Amino acid sequence: MTIHQQLLDKILNDNEEYVRSHDLDYFLGHSRGQSPQITMLTCSDSRVSSQIIVQDPVNRVFVIKNIGNQVATCEGSLDYGIYHLKTPLLLIVGHTDCGAVKARIKGVRGEPRTIRRELLSLPTYSVESLQDTDYDQLVRENVLNNIRYQVKIATGKYQELIQKDELRVVGAYYDFRNDLGQGWGRVVLV
Ligand SMILES: [Zn+2]
Repeated sequence: MTIHQQLLDKILNDNEEYVRSHDLDYFLGHSRGQSPQITMLTCSDSRVSSQIIVQDPVNRVFVIKNIGNQVATCEGSLDYGIYHLKTPLLLIVGHTDCGAVKARIKGVRGEPRTIRRELLSLPTYSVESLQDTDYDQLVRENVLNNIRYQVKIATGKYQELIQKDELRVVGAYYDFRNDLGQGWGRVVLV
């Protein structure tokens, strides 16, 4: 059996389990429309899921993922969550060990054009007091800086709604490695 067939079998098996564990009422509850209260912009990294903030994110979290959790590369999707679904909260979540941030630090020259374009819209942030050995800290500071940067862009973009108190934009750092010392898996507001 090929890896693809194995994966497809696993998908269908897991879906079978999902179907079995949810009754009709569960699906009827959201069968005619969605009513999420949170728009979550986060990184495509497979270690980051909306389940880190809501146990069952179905119909609760409008999730947008891209490399580096960037506003610039998903404005249409963001606008959909904010203007059409009118979620009162936009949560922008960066994370530990972000590959996009690491690639931006390293330099994007070797990347294909499409990936390069998306990485170049990430900010760079040099930490002068750091030695080369503090690479993890350099990444961490750049992740934090990127979260603040994306929040700033979103705050400018949606300032009318924010002024009317219809929207709040909040940044967060998902720390699955306890880099911030507040616990493994902790979501820390930035
Ligand atoms: Zn990432």
